[in-house]
Amino acid sequence: MGLSIPVVWSDAQRRHAPETGVWLGVAIDADELPARADRIRSALEGAGATVVESESHDDAPLLAVHDAGLVEFLRTAWSEWSAEGYPDDPGQPDVVGYIFPTPGLLSGLEPRVPTALSARTGAWCFDTMTVIGEGTWEAARAAVDTALTATDLVLGGAPAAYACCRPPGHHVTRTAFGGSCYLNNAAVAAQHLRDGGTSSRVALLDVDAHHGNGAQAIFWEHDDVLTASVHVDPTDGWFPHFLGFADESGPSNLNVTLPSGSGDEAWLAGVDRLVEATRAHGSDAVVVALGVDAGIDDPNSPLAVTAHAFREAGRRLGTLGLPTVVVQEGGYVLDTVGALVLAALEGLDETR
Ligand SMILES: [Zn+2]
Repeated sequence: MGLSIPVVWSDAQRRHAPETGVWLGVAIDADELPARADRIRSALEGAGATVVESESHDDAPLLAVHDAGLVEFLRTAWSEWSAEGYPDDPGQPDVVGYIFPTPGLLSGLEPRVPTALSARTGAWCFDTMTVIGEGTWEAARAAVDTALTATDLVLGGAPAAYACCRPPGHHVTRTAFGGSCYLNNAAVAAQHLRDGGTSSRVALLDVDAHHGNGAQAIFWEHDDVLTASVHVDPTDGWFPHFLGFADESGPSNLNVTLPSGSGDEAWLAGVDRLVEATRAHGSDAVVVALGVDAGIDDPNSPLAVTAHAFREAGRRLGTLGLPTVVVQEGGYVLDTVGALVLAALEGLDETR
């Protein structure tokens, strides 16, 4: 029997296709590519999964977790950038920030909205590597619809559904994007479960190699949504650097940090802590932010997790026995990303 978890898909997500990113001022090859989703889809279809086309939703679920100003900026930035001629002078085809209203700059004053578009970017983006290209908005908005369609399947009674989202979303806060993410697909899904009327308490469990800082920030003061993340310790020098430490605690937030080099055993012990926290929270539905960049061959993290452990993590998350929306986050090695996602979903499927 094939994989029973439906796979939600949107072709429009391909429209975000940056050829380069900007890191430390240098143009580097992009690795958050449309081919990532293609590889995942083909692995899941090869295992017998049913692919469901994403359906469009209005902006209400998006605006439930993001500031309207952020959404409007993302919607319009590239066309304004293009109209103002930045692709020709200075020759930058993508929207990229250069000045940022840090607390040190503002010295206690409220940030204004800059007149120049080149400066406005810094008001909404917290890094210089997450550029906005011609199709970025369309793709990021489609990824939100993908997450919402998977959530609708679960609200409609499916025990689990998988949203094959890209670009990813878990680094985006209520008012700021970055970390190769534009809109927080998993946070939208969690809030949609809450607003769907069947779930009073939701757990958003993030197993991406990097801290899910976006959901932590969005739900910091909302104890109806537990946010819990297992990730490489930012103290070891990893993104998002300023957040994700074990001692950050809110009414319902858990950060499990792992030292560089951690393998299956330590990572699965971290997953167990997420499961325990979900039980203690009394959650009645789960969103899994499934990044697979903790995989042993992924250069984007120093963790060393195998496919065996991703399968086992799926099983352990499945033992909660709760309706589960799985949302794709990171995972950048094209040769293995599909197999790792499949392993996690097969593990989850075994418990159904
Ligand atoms: Zn990641």
